[in-house]
Amino acid sequence: MTCVDSVSTYQVETRSLVKHYALRSGFLRRPARVIRAVDGVSLGIPAKQTLGLVGESGCGKTTLGRCLLRLIEPTAGTVCFEGVDLLALRPHQIRELRQEMQIVFQNPFSSLDPRLSVYRSISEPLRTHLPGDRSRRQEQVVALLEQVGMSSEHLYRYPHEFSGGQLQRIAIARALALRPKFLVLDEPTAALDVSVQAHIVTLLMDLQRELDLTYLFISHDLTLVHHVSDSIAVLYLGKIVEMAQATGVFEHPLHPYTQVLLSSTPYLDPRLRKQRIVPRGSVPDSANPPCGCSFHPRCPRVVGICREEAPQLRDVGGGHLVACHLSSG
Ligand code: SF4
Repeated sequence: MTCVDSVSTYQVETRSLVKHYALRSGFLRRPARVIRAVDGVSLGIPAKQTLGLVGESGCGKTTLGRCLLRLIEPTAGTVCFEGVDLLALRPHQIRELRQEMQIVFQNPFSSLDPRLSVYRSISEPLRTHLPGDRSRRQEQVVALLEQVGMSSEHLYRYPHEFSGGQLQRIAIARALALRPKFLVLDEPTAALDVSVQAHIVTLLMDLQRELDLTYLFISHDLTLVHHVSDSIAVLYLGKIVEMAQATGVFEHPLHPYTQVLLSSTPYLDPRLRKQRIVPRGSVPDSANPPCGCSFHPRCPRVVGICREEAPQLRDVGGGHLVACHLSSG
């Protein structure tokens, strides 16, 4: 049940992780096409650090995050948490380990049950995993609420009585109820007003310091990811195309796709604005990816070899990984 290399320095690690969906059609429901949502992803997150995962909508970020927690069954590859191979565990073992690994979803309006009070929502995981008396549970729920900037006066209110920012705080308290070590944060601010996004990001960073948490922070916003992450992985059509320390990716992006993402970031300060690079066309169908480099139909720097040969993700110096024929560091 341990991973092949149990001396890994990472708390969370994937190797060649794959998630394919077979689309069936016809009377016999035969597989007709395969969507390659995650296509051979290897990454590692050291304990107490944040890996930011960026890419456009539909590039496989959410699927990858859910595969890490085995909320979705991967098709192939390995997922290890503290040296334990998650894919080798039985359902009851996964349930036990899930105390250590939780998720905060993008939309708190749909992730909390509108029929349950705040107390019921947060105490449910406590009831399942840490049975005890009600007064003890209530103390724990109040402590969790205070930890996310709310109080006991919110205990018996219902989701419709809160703003989006307050709901996301409640969802974070619920994710922290079992004292996890690792959180997948799936676009945790994307559904919130701009005015409250910064408060939630600050809260998440404070909690990480206080509780020694490890994060996978998923977002389409490279500036936000740079702000919160130790390292960044850029995903395109289910594959990592660039991965390095956060500053390396943000200040010296080497892959043309990362440069496109960065150039489309709005900056208030005109001195920081980058020249806009507009990619050609739209994101290709992941059931029918282009041959060669999957970014070649949109790439502003495409050359002949790009249409024939898929570039491998390789270290171009100092642990900066890039999958591009033209990148030499
Ligand atoms: Fe562009 Fe070619 Fe690099 Fe792909 S391999 S990103 S097409 S330059």
